[in-house]
Amino acid sequence: MRCMICASSMVPSMAKDFGGVYGLTEVSYERCVACGFVQSSTHAKMPLAEWERLNREFHASYQGSGVAEGDPRWMERIETQARVMTRLVRDGILPGGPWVDYACGDGELADRLERNGLDVTRYDRYMRTGVGRYLEKEELLKSGKKWEVVINTSAFEHFLSMEPIEEIFELARDGVLAVHTLVSERVPTDALWFYLFPVHVSFFTNAAMQILFERYGFASSIYHVEARLWFWFRHRDRAFERYCASHSAAGDTLVWRDAFVDYWKE
Ligand SMILES: [Zn+2]
Repeated sequence: MRCMICASSMVPSMAKDFGGVYGLTEVSYERCVACGFVQSSTHAKMPLAEWERLNREFHASYQGSGVAEGDPRWMERIETQARVMTRLVRDGILPGGPWVDYACGDGELADRLERNGLDVTRYDRYMRTGVGRYLEKEELLKSGKKWEVVINTSAFEHFLSMEPIEEIFELARDGVLAVHTLVSERVPTDALWFYLFPVHVSFFTNAAMQILFERYGFASSIYHVEARLWFWFRHRDRAFERYCASHSAAGDTLVWRDAFVDYWKE
């Protein structure tokens, strides 16, 4: 396998036996020798229909329940993300709209943002269980609309190819990308690592994120630690650095960098 981020070669990294849950047995993961990105080679080789079945069954197990399997802080994190984004609009750091939430799932985050007065369009290729406006893919890509903010939370870890990632960056070509996924300095090799869910297939390192950050033309970023949310900007504004330094508080930590904020060093 070749690394989908930097095209370097991948070597075996770890394996996990899922014991038949959702039809998964042993899953093998490979690591990029250059950027450290890790991907499941088992999922990468899976027929598309099987991959889609796995996702349907996994997500059906919790969607709409307010609880995500293996992620008990899911709802709390979404509340924090909505609060932080609303505040950053109020303080002039984020533009006010229109926004799109790409891979929004049942729209929990978009719902909250709309209640706070933001104009958020929903897009999800697979899941449309929630209420509200969902855009079709053709409309999303052909609308020619300038999205001021493109939100993408808890999705990068599900992507097996660059196609959806490239789509996200294309949508955010003139705007800000708000992204949440787990990023580490070095992806663990422990089969007991909590993040090895049946549907998590891609694991990003700081180096991999920095490659994407540069390749798609971003210049600076802000990380909100408690919301686990990065904001990638097209411009470099020292006023943002000052804002983060002066507006961070207990439970509300903002970090600015003229690169991808590599906050997690473990
Ligand atoms: Zn790589």
